Amino acid sequence: MEENTNLTAQAPVADAAAQPKEAKKFVKRIPRKKVCAFCQNKAEVIDYKDVNTLKKYITEGGKILSRRMTGVCAKHQRILAKAIKRARLVDLLPFKGE
Ligand SMILES: [Zn+2]
Repeated sequence: MEENTNLTAQAPVADAAAQPKEAKKFVKRIPRKKVCAFCQNKAEVIDYKDVNTLKKYITEGGKILSRRMTGVCAKHQRILAKAIKRARLVDLLPFKGE
């Protein structure tokens, strides 16, 4: 009889321990799909004079944001990086933070 009571007492404890782990699994965040803004506009050229657009892809410190951050595709990231660098040369964007 004692063994039976022990088993019934242990079973709920084991379930309670298992539940938080399962709950954590469900909390797993779903990554939002980012679509390349330039692909949507079907832009083949990114204008270095378009400062307002370029500013979205640099940090406050003036660094070019990574593709992981912005969701820009590889092709447009290359064009974008060149455009930002050009804009820096003609003083439209800062090399370093202000
Ligand atoms: Zn693209």
